[in-house]
Amino acid sequence: MEYNISNGLELDDNSSIAVIGGGPAGSFFTYFALDFAQRVGIDINIDIYEAKDFTCAGPSGCNHCGGIVSESLIQMLSTEGIVLPANVIQKGIETYTLHLESGTTVIEMPLHEQRIAAVYRGFGPKGAHEDDQESFDNYLLQLCEQKGAQLFIDKVTNLSRTADGIFLKSLKHGEKQYDLVVGAAGLNPKTLKLFKGICPSYLSPETTKTHICEFYLDPEVVNEYFGNSMHVFLLDVPNIKFGALIPKGHYVTLVLLGSNINRDIVKSFLDTKEVRQCFPPDIDLEKIIPCFCFPTINIKAAKSAYSDRVIMIGDSSSSKLYKNGIGSAYITAKAAAKTAVFEGISEKDFKKSYQKVCNELNLDNNIGKGIFALTTIIQKSPLLKKGLHRMVVKEQSQDSEKRRMSSILWDTFTGSAPYTDILKRGLNPLVGSKLILNTIKGTIK
Ligand SMILES: Cc1cc2nc3c(=O)[nH]c(=O)nc-3n(C[C@H](O)[C@H](O)[C@H](O)COP(=O)(O)OP(=O)(O)OC[C@H]3O[C@@H](n4cnc5c(N)ncnc54)[C@H](O)[C@@H]3O)c2cc1C
Repeated sequence: MEYNISNGLELDDNSSIAVIGGGPAGSFFTYFALDFAQRVGIDINIDIYEAKDFTCAGPSGCNHCGGIVSESLIQMLSTEGIVLPANVIQKGIETYTLHLESGTTVIEMPLHEQRIAAVYRGFGPKGAHEDDQESFDNYLLQLCEQKGAQLFIDKVTNLSRTADGIFLKSLKHGEKQYDLVVGAAGLNPKTLKLFKGICPSYLSPETTKTHICEFYLDPEVVNEYFGNSMHVFLLDVPNIKFGALIPKGHYVTLVLLGSNINRDIVKSFLDTKEVRQCFPPDIDLEKIIPCFCFPTINIKAAKSAYSDRVIMIGDSSSSKLYKNGIGSAYITAKAAAKTAVFEGISEKDFKKSYQKVCNELNLDNNIGKGIFALTTIIQKSPLLKKGLHRMVVKEQSQDSEKRRMSSILWDTFTGSAPYTDILKRGLNPLVGSKLILNTIKGTIK
């Protein structure tokens, strides 16, 4: 289908948009842009280009992610009319189990209202064949197709600017001209480089290497050993800020975040007694890993993520530090769609409206950096860890509004609340004083 190319820097009837990347950012942008356009009575055309096929198991359909959808995002999506179907949710997470060298504690969800969902972004790990499950990313893409978008399973290979539009070249569909190009390509370095030509001042995000692997187990074993709990580790292992085991049907996903994680670091983490005791004693963990990878994560936002007719969203732009990347994709994608439909597609329009939203995320991340620096201090101090463990164990027998430290840890680990909000709660004098008191008592005992 050929589209009309509008001369102005505003969307109108028959304007055409190319979305590069069909991960959450690309899908959320498409969903909201079509929705907003319908509200203002304009008929726009959106083509989504996605290089992967999310109906395939293994790397060709995988977006390398822990797959935790925070309760705040589940709530926001349901108010937008997006309710995740049961076959997309591999497990509803109800508690998290905190593992420290000084002990293990199960922490209840602060408010027993919404569950966290553990999903697969693609069809599942290499070799997965369960036909009762669906990919999260594929589900969102289907919603976009139902709203009228066209999906091309195709790789974008070139972008160039002309006087009245952007030319996009892809492997299977040749060259096409668009009014607006949306960069939702995650952290793919080759694709981000393509944007240099049409968005010259764009500086891609800073990244660091992380680790993901899957353990294949019997579903009964997963239930018996992990239940509906995400297992979180605050252990003194070099380079690791955060480790989590996330149960999902036949598998348990391991996510390690920190800095430049490599095979040796992963091995030393898996060899700790705290990790070993989560699994059946006679299992050789290395033999039940069908796939693993070392994907990168956004640790510092991109700069100048827009120009006339170009906007970058999701991981390609700004994302929440270490957590809730899918939630950040929702925030930036919706803000970009709002600006494009209601205000315009010029650099000036994006700078005026979209940049504000990125600034808020970036400011929150600066606070997040401080929170993770504090977590690292606790991680490295056996005494503080003892105090933290004592405090959290005690809180479990108290009313939920008194479980201050538990709710801080919950939101830090699940990414459910902004870091600013966590900081405010952490500054309550009762939190610090109780941690000190419990550390002293724990040390004496
Ligand atoms: C180890 C790890 C664990 C994580 N765990 C979680 C978690 O539990 N919960 C959470 O919310 N977030 C998590 N994240 C973050 C989350 O994965 C990202 O923030 C999120 O995926 C960003 O979405 P996106 O749409 O911007 O990018 P992506 O999900 O990366 O999607 C980009 C898409 O663009 C496509 N693409 C790229 N180049 C081209 C091209 N040239 N042509 C066509 N298509 C192209 C890719 O195939 C991909 O599908 C984790 C990240 C890591 C690294």
